[in-house]
Amino acid sequence: MRMADDAFRTSTRQCPLCGEHFVITSRRKKYCDYYDEAGFECQTAQDDHGEAQDFAAMMRVDAQCIRCDEPAGWKGQGRPRRYCSNRCKQADYRSRRAWTAQAA
Ligand SMILES: [Zn+2]
Ligand SMILES: [Zn+2]
Repeated sequence: MRMADDAFRTSTRQCPLCGEHFVITSRRKKYCDYYDEAGFECQTAQDDHGEAQDFAAMMRVDAQCIRCDEPAGWKGQGRPRRYCSNRCKQADYRSRRAWTAQAA
């Protein structure tokens, strides 16, 4: 049953999160269907994955120095920078330490 094999191969894909095969119902579908096919393990993985992606997107939009609000110079790859310069980074660390010391 070669044809059936090919049909199976083109209409299903291995889920990168749980390793199970899911049925491809749209080109954008990358994992098991959250409500239909995904087991508990896959749902958890999808939750984590979605959150990580949302967080990354948010960080990219906010790629500005958390100390002085200047653009932090994120180049669109890897981790976004949190400070525009080492100066701001050190100033922020110092003020945090001072604040913690006061609170304690
Ligand atoms: Zn899955
Ligand atoms: Zn700064």
